Amino acid sequence: MASEISTEDEIVSGTVSVLLPLALPRPYDYKVPAGVQVRPGSYVIVPLGPQEVIGVVWGEGTGEVGHNRLRPVTEVLDVPPMPEVLRRFVDWVAGYTVSPPGSVLRLAIRAPGALEPPRMRTAYRLGAARPSRMTPARARAVEVAEDGFARTVRELAEEAGVSDGVVRGLVDAGALLPVDLPTEAPFPAPLPDMPGVALSPEQAEAAGLLRGHVEARRFAAVLLDGVTGSGKTEVYFEAVAAALSQGKQVLILLPEIALTSQFLDRFERRFGCRPAEWHSDLSTRERRRVWRGVAEGHVPVVVGARSALFLPFPELGLIVVDEEHDAAFKQEDGVPYHARDMAVVRASLGQFPIVLSSATPSLETAVNAEQGRYARVRLEARHGVAELPDVTAIDMRADPPERGRWLSPVLVREIHKALEAGEQSMLFLNRRGYAPLTLCRTCGHRIECPQCSAWLVEHRFRRELVCHHCGYSAPVPKACPSCGAEDALVACGPGVERIAEEVAELFPQARAAIVSSDNLRGPAAHEAVFAAIEAREVDIVIGTQIVAKGHHFPWLTLVGVVDADLGLENGDLRAGERTFQLLQQVAGRAGRAERPGRVFLQSFMPEHGVMRALVSGRRDEFLAREAAARERVGLPPFGRLVGVVVSAPDAALAQKVAREMSRRVPRTEDVSVLGPAPAPLALLRGRTRLRFLVKAGRSVNIQSFVRAWLEDMKIPNAVRVSVDVDPYSFM
Ligand code: ADP
Ligand code: ZN
Repeated sequence: MASEISTEDEIVSGTVSVLLPLALPRPYDYKVPAGVQVRPGSYVIVPLGPQEVIGVVWGEGTGEVGHNRLRPVTEVLDVPPMPEVLRRFVDWVAGYTVSPPGSVLRLAIRAPGALEPPRMRTAYRLGAARPSRMTPARARAVEVAEDGFARTVRELAEEAGVSDGVVRGLVDAGALLPVDLPTEAPFPAPLPDMPGVALSPEQAEAAGLLRGHVEARRFAAVLLDGVTGSGKTEVYFEAVAAALSQGKQVLILLPEIALTSQFLDRFERRFGCRPAEWHSDLSTRERRRVWRGVAEGHVPVVVGARSALFLPFPELGLIVVDEEHDAAFKQEDGVPYHARDMAVVRASLGQFPIVLSSATPSLETAVNAEQGRYARVRLEARHGVAELPDVTAIDMRADPPERGRWLSPVLVREIHKALEAGEQSMLFLNRRGYAPLTLCRTCGHRIECPQCSAWLVEHRFRRELVCHHCGYSAPVPKACPSCGAEDALVACGPGVERIAEEVAELFPQARAAIVSSDNLRGPAAHEAVFAAIEAREVDIVIGTQIVAKGHHFPWLTLVGVVDADLGLENGDLRAGERTFQLLQQVAGRAGRAERPGRVFLQSFMPEHGVMRALVSGRRDEFLAREAAARERVGLPPFGRLVGVVVSAPDAALAQKVAREMSRRVPRTEDVSVLGPAPAPLALLRGRTRLRFLVKAGRSVNIQSFVRAWLEDMKIPNAVRVSVDVDPYSFM
């Protein structure tokens, strides 16, 4: 277990315990050489075996190892110490996720180079001395430098219209004196007092409530619950302004990078400059700049993906989680954690408020609001004249598409209408590629991934079959790999590429665009396509879930959901909730300005509760029904779950370890362990996978149970046992 964190920022002498960003069971002791100053939170370099590693001082030494046998700290880095609240947060997350604290620490220092001293560039200022030999060129340079400003060699040479050599000559002669300037540009300060948009009375009231929470400087979790287009962003910007006025730092977590370009523009309109960004597409240099700026307190606002939660804010005073229901907040690899839930913990440790914003709150958050643990602020009306769209279910049994097509005649008519009116349509299908399955007509063989238990998905533009789980790809074969029949392979089912093909045939005059992660590599490509849609250069958008979120297209009036039943196929506990959220978000793209929106759901089960809730718009009723159903069977948020997956390249070995684990399950009344059973993805990247599901009541400390269970298990090197507390994926 981790040693206790020291709370005082006092200098520690003698021995210190240092947490290393590695999957080790606990921090290790080191001795502090005489004359070296370290504090709790200091970043240090220490020896570990033959290596040197960066670690963080977690507290005083534990004294487990005698002082004379300890190795000394090599170096203390010139970085502000990790704030105490972040150290407590790292320990908390480690305890909750049943992960080694060092693995969580790695999330907090994963900014290559950020811990090195900031790079400087050398500039020159004019000194008192003048060179003994003065040429006309030298005189010109001296004249420019007489204003007293520091310039680099290049800058001064350029301004004076002389060669670099002339300037260097002046340096050598001692006339120009070197000064160090930081290479990085400073971060601009957002201006909280710039006038925002004029808020409607409903928005103003909501903003006032949020401001009140910020001004109280206490922990509070607030659900900002407003229909799509109601102005949630404008409203929580007021809370951001309030925190900035207090001199506090603010973190805004967003689920998707694709959101940021429109978002950053809006932020700039409200606050006069762009916030710092934090996500995986940043350059190393930019990451270093942001990480340092945050640590030194120079960055007032960070807009980022989930990992921004582990930045070393010394003065964090507000977190906003936008689209809080989004599954992208769940980290699946490494340390599996839910950024929304951990953000609530971070706010509580830091004693400041957190705003969770959504038009379709997660059931977890809705229940927390219902039971009074979270406050709720509602926005019921769309901004301005915009109305919520009309939602209609198309019964695919009654109005089927023509053979070999996927769009029902009803939807086709609606697209014609929109085209004639000069308005935009969006066809939504959450499936990349051309077809999800390739089948042999002769022998019935289905083409599967050689390393995963999954079908290969045809990507016709790339002329490849691709595994969406491991990335394996192969050219589409001419003959069936099983029976050898030629030209017998048929594509089954649609992906967005296939819908685009149908659209091209049905509406040859329309300009269509596919928006899916395959077609758009990187933020620039996203920006380009969204700008084209905004500029009305596209008539029909065909998109996967990328188009569901956040975007505001004033001319988009028609949304057609090609397969509304798709998400219900996988039977996990959130299938209904997630399908509802996703389709409600997609529907929210229609009619966001003056022109009213229409939404059509193609479904083979229009009587299903999810479809009925979407058509009637009775969200709260739907959530209440879902909640009741989960409460009856003790599923989250009314009970706790932990997924445990055992995997190995060798199936027999995986089974052996799983059997052994099964034998060791501690006997208690309050916890049940289901499994081991082959995971739905029984083979992934060549590894056989077996699943356990641990289920317990809300009041049970399920983490202690799991730790006790796995503590003394000897796990062979080839086997991985991964623990996922509050799992969202049951594959
Ligand atoms: P939500 O996040 O609830 O979907 P947004 O904050 O994105 O809603 O607002 C939808 C659109 O309406 C945006 O273009 C926003 O700028 C605009 N808007 C919202 N409230 C106002 C307001 N009070 N004045 C002017 N424009 C507003
Ligand atoms: Zn695969």
